[in-house]
Parts: sequence; structure tokens; C-alpha cells
Amino acid sequence: MKTKLLKLALAFFILNAESLLAQFSPEDTVLVDIQKINPRIIVEIKYATEDNFTGKKLYDVPKCFLRKFVALKLDSVQRELEKVGLGLKVWDCYRPLSVQKILWSIVPDERYVANPAKGSRHNRGCAVDLTLVDSLGNELPMPTKYDDFTEKAHRDYYNLPDTVIKNRKILEDVMKKYGFIPLPTEWWHFDAQGWENFSILDIPLKELNKK
Ligand SMILES: [Zn+2]
Repeated sequence: MKTKLLKLALAFFILNAESLLAQFSPEDTVLVDIQKINPRIIVEIKYATEDNFTGKKLYDVPKCFLRKFVALKLDSVQRELEKVGLGLKVWDCYRPLSVQKILWSIVPDERYVANPAKGSRHNRGCAVDLTLVDSLGNELPMPTKYDDFTEKAHRDYYNLPDTVIKNRKILEDVMKKYGFIPLPTEWWHFDAQGWENFSILDIPLKELNKK
């Protein structure tokens, strides 16, 4: 009897492990415009301007597209932050693989840019670069500007004013609460749990914007 129960428990465990792998429905994988999910999230896409580390405008459309399950998590983060008079400003979301190749041609250094041969989590529509804003949309003081590739941007860098450390922690805590994984070397970068289940894409932002 005991063996039968054990076998049943084992079968249940295996089934669950499999369903964990297949926890995303086809609808979850669709790329959606974050402002259609929550228009209060501020979108300021740096790669759609010349104000980025390459000095070049790399996107044709200043939009934040994310896999739907990621966008819904971010919506929850925004709602939670609003309760304390804060909000989100996103700097980068889904990034087409062809743009990753351009970034790599300018900075072929894996400390700063993901090698397009492997692809970035941004290429999967599962990563987001963002900061905190107050209720008027002003950015809160953070350790560095966006895409500052120095150790000052690392999450374990503490030679900073108390308010900056506090702001970085507020962002990190709320993102973790909703299933995002912080990148240790960039305080602004978070990956959605389960990103490895999603493929690398090269759909131009302009195409996505037509839908
Ligand atoms: Zn990033």
C-alpha cells in the first residue's frame, strides 16, 4: 500500500514539474504595448533617441513592448507603487536581435552588452530597464544614470547617499515581489522569471506598432 502511495506521490511530483515548465499559455507569449496594459507607466525609450551610450538612434518607434505575462507583472508593480505615491519609468523593453547586433558591433564586450550569438533577455521580450518616479513623474535619485557601465551601477555598491540606497531597494523589493530577477551589475535591469522558455525575436518595433 505504502509503495503505491509513494508511486502516486512521485507521479504527481513529475506531473507538477512538467506543468511548471509549460506554465505559459500562447497568449502569455504575445508582445504587447505596456501603455495599453497600464498607460500610467511612463515610457522613455533611450534607444529611440540619441541619448544613449551609442549616441545613435537605434529604434524607429519609442515604444515598450513586452511578453504579455511580463507586462501584467509590471502593471502589478505600478499599482503597488502608486499606493505610496510612486511609479515606474521604463527605458528599454523588447529589443529586436538586429539592434542587439548593432550594440555588439559598437561595444563587443560581454560585461556591457549581451553577445547576439547568445541573445539578450531583452531580445526575448522578458527583460525591462526601468527606474522610479514620484507622483509628478520626476525620477528619484538613483546610483547612476541609465547604461552607466561602472561598478557604481552594481547592486552591491554602497558608497552612496542613504536616499539613493533606499530608492534602489524600494525598486528591487517591489520587482522581486512580482517575480522579477534583478541583474547584479545593473540596478535598472530586471528579468522576468521563466524568460528561458521564450525565444529570441527579431520583429521590428515598427511592425509591432502596426498591430
Ligand atoms: Zn537591460
